[in-house]
Amino acid sequence: MRALVLLAALVAVAAGTETFIGHQVLRIVPTNDEELQKVRELQDLEELQLDFWLSPRGLGHPVDVRVPFPSLQPLKAHLESNGISYSIMIEDVQALVDHERMEMLRGRRGLPLSTNTFDYATYHSLDEIYAFMDLLVAENPNLVSKLEIGRSTENRPLYVLKFSKGGTNRPAIWIDTGIHSREWVTQASGVWFAKKIVQDHENDEGLASILDKMDIFLEIVTNPDGFAFTQTQNRMWRKTRSKNSGSICVGVDPNRNWDAGFGGSGASANPCSETYHGPYANSEPEVKSIVDFVKSHGNIKAFISIHSYSQLLLYPYGYTTTPVPDQKELHEISKKAVAALSSLYGTNYEYGSIITTIYKASGGTIDWTYNQGIKYSFTFELRDTGRYGFLLPAKQIIPTAQETWLALKVIMQHTVDHPY
Ligand SMILES: [Zn+2]
Repeated sequence: MRALVLLAALVAVAAGTETFIGHQVLRIVPTNDEELQKVRELQDLEELQLDFWLSPRGLGHPVDVRVPFPSLQPLKAHLESNGISYSIMIEDVQALVDHERMEMLRGRRGLPLSTNTFDYATYHSLDEIYAFMDLLVAENPNLVSKLEIGRSTENRPLYVLKFSKGGTNRPAIWIDTGIHSREWVTQASGVWFAKKIVQDHENDEGLASILDKMDIFLEIVTNPDGFAFTQTQNRMWRKTRSKNSGSICVGVDPNRNWDAGFGGSGASANPCSETYHGPYANSEPEVKSIVDFVKSHGNIKAFISIHSYSQLLLYPYGYTTTPVPDQKELHEISKKAVAALSSLYGTNYEYGSIITTIYKASGGTIDWTYNQGIKYSFTFELRDTGRYGFLLPAKQIIPTAQETWLALKVIMQHTVDHPY
């Protein structure tokens, strides 16, 4: 075991992969406005190279930050001198990364031959997920098809699975996972959802009735360039991989690049920031492809964009405090969806609008889809609440997907029952 960990680390170093040796994830819970302000100021200290896993939300809400080894002592000293307390959420980030890699290597047995023997309880490479999609289509040609809605910056195909019992241009439900590439439990859950739809489309009465009326579109790897990069170069990569003119920093935050309050506060104009909004709305092909698809389809009735982590179910808006006209209905659906989710394993979720629940965020996916007339627009933040953060152990993939599926079914059923 120890030898394997060492081997994994050596392989990583040899491959030029970013390592996180000695990095810690610190948690700070601001308890007054002054502390909150001080924590916000940390976001502008580029020299510390801090990676905010959870950005400041408000008083009493945790801020999780990955701190590179050389910044640990200066940051801790800075916090202590300002009387701000913190705790260590992850003692050694690289240890978790190594463990995750080792589990992937151990589980790997080449490309899958059937979706029945596919290992849903492990994290997979991009090639494995693409092979899974092809198998699922080949095994279920009357239900599942694969569309290519565009190409990424690095020319990877952007695949969407379509689940349809027939008809033309039926009303539809859209689900995407992995638009932020490091949120691995989301792509893994997307794979599980795809198989679940196939397995249950006849014997689950609720799902059968949903598919009698609507199609489901599922984009599992919404940011394939970023995802490939997290697997080969930097496990903590969040953004796209487009080059930014005039900057050495790469990538745009694809959840700040939509044409809804684009460039407003809650997004950064700095290409080196994790929340860089990009040069203009829809600059990222990963975003533009969905925009074009949604517009040309013209009949999407629910749009669900899945992230991790922090266990939240959110609805618009993020860019303005003005409540959406459908606030009451969206809030009621969220309440029901969260109750269904929690019923399985007791996982606790909060819910509400983006701006009131977390923070102001402009240029976000579901603000744009809502403004396009897609009333049932939601974002999930899946497990956990920070013990592992983006490095959620693979053994939690299936439970996470199972509970989330229950919430998705509530939203889909409501959509079918309330045509508009
Ligand atoms: Zn995200």
